[in-house]
Amino acid sequence: MKELKCGDVGFDCDAVVRADSEEEVMAQVATHAREAHGMDEIDAATAGKIRAQIHDAA
Ligand SMILES: [Zn+2]
Repeated sequence: MKELKCGDVGFDCDAVVRADSEEEVMAQVATHAREAHGMDEIDAATAGKIRAQIHDAA
């Protein structure tokens, strides 16, 4: 199980995304970013930041 805390990426946000794989987390983050943060797409720099913050969930 992988986990990403949205706040770790730099957003003022309490959302936590959990999924089985890093790719699944990225897909869910894309949806979350669009719905919660109005980001139509995640640019390469932000995607890199997000990937760097994905970690194993307990
Ligand atoms: Zn968020």
